[in-house]
Amino acid sequence: MPTNPVLVVHGGAWDIPDDMVEAHLNGVRNASAAGWRVLEAGGSALDAVEEAVVVLEDDETFDAGRGSFLNRDGKVQLDAFIMDGSTLRGGGVGCVERLRNPVRAARKILSDSPHVYFVAEGAERFAAEHGIALCRNEDLIIPREVERLREYQAQQSTSGNDLFAPEISHDILSHDTVGAVALDRDGNIAASTSTGGTLNKAPGRLGDSSLIGCGCYADNLSAAASTTGWGEPIMKLVLAKWTADRISAGNLPEWSAQEAMNYLEQRVNGHGGIIVLNPEGHIGIAHNTPRMAWAYKTVKKEEAGIERTSMQ
Ligand code: ASP
Repeated sequence: MPTNPVLVVHGGAWDIPDDMVEAHLNGVRNASAAGWRVLEAGGSALDAVEEAVVVLEDDETFDAGRGSFLNRDGKVQLDAFIMDGSTLRGGGVGCVERLRNPVRAARKILSDSPHVYFVAEGAERFAAEHGIALCRNEDLIIPREVERLREYQAQQSTSGNDLFAPEISHDILSHDTVGAVALDRDGNIAASTSTGGTLNKAPGRLGDSSLIGCGCYADNLSAAASTTGWGEPIMKLVLAKWTADRISAGNLPEWSAQEAMNYLEQRVNGHGGIIVLNPEGHIGIAHNTPRMAWAYKTVKKEEAGIERTSMQ
């Protein structure tokens, strides 16, 4: 009996302003449609999450691919990870500056390399050697982000505020990382997460998104998960794997996703969001930020939103 496919995507957890809601909803809907086309045609969960994330990376609304936040030096530096729950193979890139779609390079690593991670120039070289065109870093930078960095650095020089300082309210911080989890007809699950990281980050800083088990995880014996939010607290808790472990212990994704957010806040005062999917097709979507862009699709239902209070 073939399994009914399921796809869930997110486009970041933060206090998305009203005038950006439509762009976020369009973005997650487009990504969901792209991933669903793969699943509907009998494609793999792995291909579906890759295609969904490519759409989100290409959409300048989000902090992934072109349009990402700039680091302290005014450069885009990207991290991405993709994982196959049926084989436990993973592919990740960190701190890449010349890839439009880092998830494509991550996928090549998963499929064509005995390694799990490549970073910086080595990752770009691997990508180029495997047929992925390199771009210039300037091709990934948009005026909105040049202005955002300029304003932030100007404020910082007057107030001395640090982005991660506790006195900075979490809802003024944008977390527009993207991710997807999918279940295919063969009953396999996969996950992917892609990000430009945090605004004004130190060059070389790696967030949770591309770290296995932190920002992304997939195992057919537990669940597929993708997180978003303030990366340092998330990685300290290895949150995606923590959540998958709750599911393999017999809990439902809906409960486990909410528990992950409670744990993140109570244990390390972290804020963010998570999407989770088990091989039975149950989903969990939770965030402890005011909003998170999400969408899901099953054979019976599709929905997108920016707030998740309970499962419909
Ligand atoms: N988790 C990402 C990071 O810390 C940021 C985000 O989710 O937007 O790099």
